[in-house]
Amino acid sequence: MSYFNVTILGCGSATPTLRHMPSSQIIAYRQHNFLMDCGEGTQLQLRRYGISFARINHIFLSHLHGDHFLGLPGLLSTMALHDVQGTVTVHTFAEGAQELARLMNMVCPTRPYELKFNIVEPKSTQTVFEDNNIIVTAFPLYHRVPCVGYRFEEKPKLRHIDGAAVEFYGVPHYMRQKIKEGADFVRPDGSLVPNERLTTSPSPTKSYAYCSDTAFNPAVAESVKGIHTVYHESTYGDEQKVKASSRGHATAREAGRIAAMAGANTLILGHYSKTITDESLLAAQAAEEFGGTVIAGNEGIKIEL
Ligand SMILES: [Zn+2]
Repeated sequence: MSYFNVTILGCGSATPTLRHMPSSQIIAYRQHNFLMDCGEGTQLQLRRYGISFARINHIFLSHLHGDHFLGLPGLLSTMALHDVQGTVTVHTFAEGAQELARLMNMVCPTRPYELKFNIVEPKSTQTVFEDNNIIVTAFPLYHRVPCVGYRFEEKPKLRHIDGAAVEFYGVPHYMRQKIKEGADFVRPDGSLVPNERLTTSPSPTKSYAYCSDTAFNPAVAESVKGIHTVYHESTYGDEQKVKASSRGHATAREAGRIAAMAGANTLILGHYSKTITDESLLAAQAAEEFGGTVIAGNEGIKIEL
């Protein structure tokens, strides 16, 4: 059963096209619908793909270029109309928090939910969200303005109890949590049953990283080292390499290189320039650098993590 997946809501770049929407994604993890960036039209995309507004409690902004957040005032207003309760936290830079708070107080002063801001520091790596199961970390990207990427990593899981073994050794129920955490079992006669006899290995942890917008920079590979699935912008193809670096963007080939350096399993491409008319060519260029799975991002696709 899928409990961790990403749905691409928009994977175009700044100039609107009829081919792609501006940047936005939903990263669903257990009860959370984490919203990553919120370009114009995001609320319509949520509608289109049947994703509930009510479960969006955390919104992460990479940077303050319009194609990454101009959909947010509209979405937050609609969430107020729909009587969304609880807390909605927007993770963004101090400047963004100040301006968004001011704008929301003008366009939508009464809200049934509490709108909070978590200030993200653009130049350092920092935990921005954490619960019992997952940790979200912001890290620097290399764009024309301050910009961060985000990593979503599951925490190490508990070991699986071997039902027959705990029955056989007579492990009482109240001790089973400790056994899952790795403890050995001491029997009433003082003899010890090692944990490996009572449990099997925990399920592997899953992880995802979002890197947009950024120029090619090996520091990004360092920041996403060991992450299973990486979304990395690929605004351009090989023939526009010079334009890419001068505008603080990357080519698909460079995205492939980052994924390879990071040891990723899967690379998702996106943030396509308006000049791109065949994303499969970008995927082919990335695949020349990266031996893992390359997915050309597109609106509406849902990728299991
Ligand atoms: Zn952008």
